[in-house]
Amino acid sequence: GLPENNLLKSFSGDRERANSVAKIKVVVRKRPLNRKEIAKKEDDIITIEPNSNSLTVHETKLKVDLTEYVEKHEFVFDAVLNEGVSNDEVYSETVEPIVPLIFNRTKATCFAYGQTGSGKTYTMQPLPLKASLDILRLMHQTYRNQGFQLSVSFFEIYGGKLFDLLNDRKKLCMREDGKQQVCIVGLQEYRVSDVEAIREFIEKGNATRSTGTTGANEESSRSHAILQLAIKRSVDGSETKPARLVGKLSFIDLAGSERGADTTDNDKQTRMEGAEINKSLLALKECIRALDSDQGHIPFRGSKLTEVLRDSFVGDSRTVMISCISPSSGSCEHTLNTLRYADRVKSLSKGNNKRDP
Ligand code: ADP
Repeated sequence: GLPENNLLKSFSGDRERANSVAKIKVVVRKRPLNRKEIAKKEDDIITIEPNSNSLTVHETKLKVDLTEYVEKHEFVFDAVLNEGVSNDEVYSETVEPIVPLIFNRTKATCFAYGQTGSGKTYTMQPLPLKASLDILRLMHQTYRNQGFQLSVSFFEIYGGKLFDLLNDRKKLCMREDGKQQVCIVGLQEYRVSDVEAIREFIEKGNATRSTGTTGANEESSRSHAILQLAIKRSVDGSETKPARLVGKLSFIDLAGSERGADTTDNDKQTRMEGAEINKSLLALKECIRALDSDQGHIPFRGSKLTEVLRDSFVGDSRTVMISCISPSSGSCEHTLNTLRYADRVKSLSKGNNKRDP
């Protein structure tokens, strides 16, 4: 391995870099109008000025005399990505700056939030691949021969229950150890050493997501899919001794935000799932709020989702929320709901920056 002083030098460099990466970042991504929306002659109601981090929603409303008028809603975020922005650019804007930090004990989480069909999966799927490419590069170059290992796990939360997506949807349970650490009993974790292996695991996991009887998007939009990349290290570089966890990067494709409103559906199962989704998305917001306000107490127990993420929220953590929106007039209400949710997360993080310069 490297001499001790070199190692320390590289770690203090990491620390500087860590301080320059925002603790919470909220990004919005607008997808293009799709063929169906164009065929229905729906308007693009979202405008984004070039090189700005604000966007405007043009909502058409009716006056009492039934004449139309347009109400404008302006929002400002850390970054606003227009429909021309590529997945590579999304990666550079969101996850790329965080990757080096997880070699130095940071736990980072990237969420995709938005209504079904807004582009969450399209946005999320390439990110762990790109991240593992960078992680492996760092392992082979900067941190060469230092005993670092990369492993992957992939599971989903559906109706408040956990299922292993890399082990035939085996049902999993959680256990808390004495140090308030949460462990998912029986979750399969695979050590990987090349990007091809990661790609195969991601494809396998996606194919295993809840598809029920009604088709893929319908059911999977009611589950949260969680892919975790863990960096471990065997202290003396030994291949045989167990490695300890150093840092973690979680990618979460959240359930469709509109599913949280399924609480009046005729079907009892759908109602229950809707209530669970609503609870978890509210709990997620509350946890990020608590994270940011230095409250000490973080309400993890609000939902399964936040309980599972507990160890990613304590200590040196980073959170990136990518809110995905559809541009079409038909989605106006859902889009405004998504932007308001993102805005609440965002305005909280502004408060944090003031207190902690
Ligand atoms: P969600 O996961 O939010 O339900 P998807 O990611 O499945 O939504 O996206 C719905 C459809 O829109 C897919 O066919 C996807 O390929 C397409 N799509 C989403 N975002 C974009 C984008 N930024 N550019 C081009 N097509 C997109």
